[in-house]
Amino acid sequence: MYKCTKCGESPVIIRRKASGQLLCKECFIDSTKEKVLRDIRKYELIKKGDKVLIALSGGKDSVMIMNILDILRRRNIIDLVAVTIDEGIKGYREDGIKIARKNADKLGIKHRIVSFNHYFNKNLDEMMKEQKEKDSRHACTYCGVLRRWILNRVAQEEDATKIATGHNLDDETQSIIMNYLEGNLDNLTRIGPKSESNYHKFVPKIKPLREITEKEAGLYVIASNLEVHLASCPYAGDSFRGEVGRFIKNLSETHPTIMYSTLRGFDKIKPILKRELSMKGVMSVCKQCGEPAAGDLCKACTFSEEWR
Ligand code: SF4
Ligand code: ZN
Ligand code: ZN
Repeated sequence: MYKCTKCGESPVIIRRKASGQLLCKECFIDSTKEKVLRDIRKYELIKKGDKVLIALSGGKDSVMIMNILDILRRRNIIDLVAVTIDEGIKGYREDGIKIARKNADKLGIKHRIVSFNHYFNKNLDEMMKEQKEKDSRHACTYCGVLRRWILNRVAQEEDATKIATGHNLDDETQSIIMNYLEGNLDNLTRIGPKSESNYHKFVPKIKPLREITEKEAGLYVIASNLEVHLASCPYAGDSFRGEVGRFIKNLSETHPTIMYSTLRGFDKIKPILKRELSMKGVMSVCKQCGEPAAGDLCKACTFSEEWR
């Protein structure tokens, strides 16, 4: 049996294809935590005194990031609060909420559960039933926009200075490829470890797991005995993101470093893209809800108008 290349003692549970490292359970947990904390410092995602709102779905990525950020909370560097958004997806979200609550309670972190219904008078299932005849927008389009709106609103309600999301390397690579393929340059310039805006109502979002693969996040929660919500959203399968995700996964089988190189390449191109597109993306205030908007109405209010 192979021995861990770090401690030289325990049996190996993972071979990191990108670095060639063979790691045992303890060394894998330690080195993953160290890597995430190093990335937080490297990209200056958090500063002392920050209050971080964690977008806690109950899935592996959000549970993992809450547990790692809790290290900084216990060192009195930051304060944490978690929020779980109930989109109203029957048969799916209920379990995620229970698991999210258990994980937050275990660490003694304040946890709020907020719903689409509360903020938009409708849940996602109802929106999808109603919009079938009108147009063909995918559930994820509504869900993404409305969740972002709620996160920013809850962050303000909680006086949070950052919003941490569980986006991992697979998610980030998918976003890069998707937006390239769709020619969506404005969206591309917004991809990165931390969102940037000088607009005071816009609470910056950070992605501490941006350089952790989905597989590593899965293994981390198993190795750490963390309970997570494993079911997939019923709306996820037929999305464009799902298709792109399968394409990248297939490529990674024969090219194990492809996601890292996509990310590194993109991070080099991004400043050039931003310079070229710098005249765009001026933020104003939505005249209906007061949240940040690119035009008169924010996207969430534009959707809400359509349901009236
Ligand atoms: Fe929302 Fe789409 Fe994610 Fe389901 S897969 S939770 S609909 S964004
Ligand atoms: Zn070891
Ligand atoms: Zn609005």
